[in-house]
Amino acid sequence: MSSEQDPLFSVEGQVAVMTGAGGVLIGGMARELAKRGAHVVVVDRAVDQAQKVAEGIRAEGGMAEAVIADVLDRKSLGDALSCVMESYGRVDILINGAGGNRKEASTSPELSFFDMPADALKFVMDLNLLGTIFPTQIFGRIMARQKHGVILNISSMNSFRPLTKIIGYSAAKAAINNVTQWLAVHLAQNYSPGIRVNAIAPGFFETAQNKFLLRDETTGELTARGQQIVGHTPMGRFGVPEDLMGTLIWLVSPASKFVTGIVVPVDGGFSAYSGV
Ligand code: NAD
Repeated sequence: MSSEQDPLFSVEGQVAVMTGAGGVLIGGMARELAKRGAHVVVVDRAVDQAQKVAEGIRAEGGMAEAVIADVLDRKSLGDALSCVMESYGRVDILINGAGGNRKEASTSPELSFFDMPADALKFVMDLNLLGTIFPTQIFGRIMARQKHGVILNISSMNSFRPLTKIIGYSAAKAAINNVTQWLAVHLAQNYSPGIRVNAIAPGFFETAQNKFLLRDETTGELTARGQQIVGHTPMGRFGVPEDLMGTLIWLVSPASKFVTGIVVPVDGGFSAYSGV
């Protein structure tokens, strides 16, 4: 399949470092890039999950390896970079996908905003914001040297307008949009216009990190919030990982070569709908 690719959208032979690729959405993106001939580096702190994704890709004939690192630990990211440089000698694509929310950083009948623990808020802010900045410092340095590279951050539709309950997560994803623009300008002006930085803002996709908000833990039925979300999504459903792939390929391929500093919502129209 890869040899038949349209050059405009080709990622063949590209080295793609993907944090959080042991998870649902970025793991799906890793499989898509590998299917199209990229060398995928699955970076995750969860050993079993990362290996499972890399093994799955290899079993389907793709090229992937798992590298264990914590996006909040620059030493472990430096070690991951050494592995990548040893194997490939370059980094063409960086996807900053590690991120997520935590129950203790979300208001609920049991937890008011006023009682929200500092460590939970700090965890969510750090994971999403610094967990995007630190890997960009480590892997982006190579792009600055190469004078080319594509960085894709993973924001969320709650970055445009915050959602109820999830204060830290909404704030951190809003910061990712700002950082995406900052990095796009900084890297193009100071290093090379061949380095681009964009973000995808997914809407609601059912994954481990948000299941507790969308489904009743015992019955599996949609919660009132889950129903409200689907009702507020003009396309009338949650997203599935495949929904992200067209935007992914566009943003990491030459098809978007004059596009930098943007955040693309992929949300079934959620952020466009006023509710009336
Ligand atoms: P997921 O929980 O399935 O995957 C996240 C992965 O990140 C996991 O494999 C986890 O081990 C890894 N990870 C967490 N902390 C890490 C760390 N410190 N260092 C290295 N790896 C770490 O989540 P997902 O739903 O696939 O989300 C992927 C990205 O998409 C996240 O940034 C998330 O915020 C974002 N997002 C998700 C949704 C959604 O509806 N699921 C919506 C908008 C944005």
